[in-house]
Amino acid sequence: MLRDPLARIPSTLLGEFYAHQLRHRRRFLLLINVLGQLAFLTYGWADQLVIADQALASWILRVGYVAMMVVPTYLVFYRLQNVLLMDVLLPVSIVGAAGIWFWLLAQSTDPHTAVYQYASLIFIVLANLGIQVSFVAALMLSVGISLVVGVGVLNVTKANMHDVLIFTLVYYPVFFFSLFISWSNTVSRRKEFAQAMLNEQAKRSLEASNRVLDQLAHTDALTGLDNRRQFEKLVRYELARSARTHQPACMMLFDIDHFKQINDTRGHDVGDLALKSMAEVARMQIREQDAIARYGGDEFAVLLTNTSLEAAMVVAERVRRSIEVCTLQLPTGDTLRMTTSIGVVGFGPTTRRLEDLVSLADRALYLAKKGGRNQVVRQDEPETVT
Ligand code: GH3
Ligand code: MG
Repeated sequence: MLRDPLARIPSTLLGEFYAHQLRHRRRFLLLINVLGQLAFLTYGWADQLVIADQALASWILRVGYVAMMVVPTYLVFYRLQNVLLMDVLLPVSIVGAAGIWFWLLAQSTDPHTAVYQYASLIFIVLANLGIQVSFVAALMLSVGISLVVGVGVLNVTKANMHDVLIFTLVYYPVFFFSLFISWSNTVSRRKEFAQAMLNEQAKRSLEASNRVLDQLAHTDALTGLDNRRQFEKLVRYELARSARTHQPACMMLFDIDHFKQINDTRGHDVGDLALKSMAEVARMQIREQDAIARYGGDEFAVLLTNTSLEAAMVVAERVRRSIEVCTLQLPTGDTLRMTTSIGVVGFGPTTRRLEDLVSLADRALYLAKKGGRNQVVRQDEPETVT
């Protein structure tokens, strides 16, 4: 459509096309309608000068006609919201305006009416100037206006073929030139629409790929949990929040016991499966609003917001237990059981920084490993760290 000026808007997009034109062209169409009607009204002064004998009739007809057009203009622009009607309102009103004007000319006894009639060229130009949407309508209405003008000219010239011929010679290039304006307007509107659709599509697919990239940037590919970067971001945010609100929060760090053995004896694929199932089982034990991440290797981390250390210990114990009792069914038919060691640390005055918090959680995890694995160790008093 961008390249072919004759390309039609596909019928499935027609509604979208009209809505687009309504959004972008309504003001322009309203303006040109109002200006057109004002111009028609103010030409009463011209009539007063040129066909003074019809001045009163001119003012009455012009004021009456413009007043009458207020109703359809209001309806079309403020009630019906139909861009096709907005598009044709001006040319339609020009058919009537041309009729009125030629009638005035025909009534006048002024000797120069045959010259004055050339001003009717403005009708055909103005009718096509505003057209934005439908060239077919523009064409039909231009023919309609030309018929009125033609009858008017025959009347004014008293069918003097010489005068009619000269008028026609002037009129027809203006007629085609005007049609060219409306044709090029409607083609431009179609192109703009096609361009807008393409832009919209490009924007949507860019947004979609940004969302995917964003997702990838903070997700661990194997387990689908948050990655370390995302987790640290959330912890930093929570550290600031809990310092401000004095609400408790805790962090849990846990690590699969003897995971190297699983990798070594069953293979890396089974190791991956074990990590996935570990992630799944642990995730089920925490609340929706808590963050869980793969912190690295076989290490996982959980952020428990609005949670005291005691409550966090309960959750940690639940996680430890659920992993201990879980039997992983392997594709080979074998089964696999795992245990995990967990370190828990509460947010407090000594853990204002992420690094401090993680190092304390690490410390607790180390103690859990050292204490025989498959257990939870809390670390709430940094002074006791040796
Ligand atoms: P511990 O009980 O002391 O934790 O012993 P461990 O054997 O689990 O030791 P450690 O936690 O240090 O082992 C981590 C292992 O996890 C080492 C590495 O080969 C393995 N690993 C890290 N990332 C992946 C992964 O993405 N897939 C698999 N299959 N293994 C991984
Ligand atoms: Mg381990």
